[in-house]
Amino acid sequence: MPDDDAIGANERMIRDQMIARGVTEPRVIDAFRSTPRELFVPEHLRASAFEDGPLPLQCGQTISQPFIVGLMTQLLRLRPTDSVLEIGTGSGYQTAILARLVHQVFSAELEPDLARHVQSRLDLLGITNVVMRIGDGTSVFSDRAPFDAILSAAAPLQIPDELIEQLGEGGRMVIPVGSADYQYLWLIERKRGQIERTQLDAVRFVPLRAKS
Ligand code: SAH
Repeated sequence: MPDDDAIGANERMIRDQMIARGVTEPRVIDAFRSTPRELFVPEHLRASAFEDGPLPLQCGQTISQPFIVGLMTQLLRLRPTDSVLEIGTGSGYQTAILARLVHQVFSAELEPDLARHVQSRLDLLGITNVVMRIGDGTSVFSDRAPFDAILSAAAPLQIPDELIEQLGEGGRMVIPVGSADYQYLWLIERKRGQIERTQLDAVRFVPLRAKS
């Protein structure tokens, strides 16, 4: 292993925050390698872009911790042909990671002020397979369902039936569920018509809101 000074901040983040904690899927690691996180962080926080935690975003929202982005992405077992619904575009960092891995990303954000910045960042990276809409992610892309995967970056109190309905056969959904200070990540899978629910790690996300 090269020493810390010889490798870049992104590579160190991948080594210490992803691989060391079990985010090892090669396609996911490649997506992190080709997506500069500093591009998605507000300018005055650039120095903190690779820190091991969430960062504040405008509108009282947060950019997810890098490890959580990696964990959720790996849990979705994405294939190059998949179409994915993302709820909570935020900074667009998770959006860009998803776009590297699948055919098409449908990304919903309630706050127009947040979504406004994202397209130019994706353009800069040459990412062209993201469709963005302003609105409630539980319904705003229902005309594009079913999805192979759904990722929510905002936590409802209960898993919305509306989202389960948009999950195609063989589909996977990763979503934080619970109150503001007590949430778990859940993996929901549709297998031969049956819905399987698995409770995973304790997490903390902003609440899923019905309206801005
Ligand atoms: N992955 C993003 C996380 C942003 S925080 C990042 O790392 O930058 C979660 C986002 O979900 C917030 O921007 C919030 O505005 C948005 N959000 C909350 N409820 C929503 C809903 N019902 N539909 C779409 N977006 C929602």
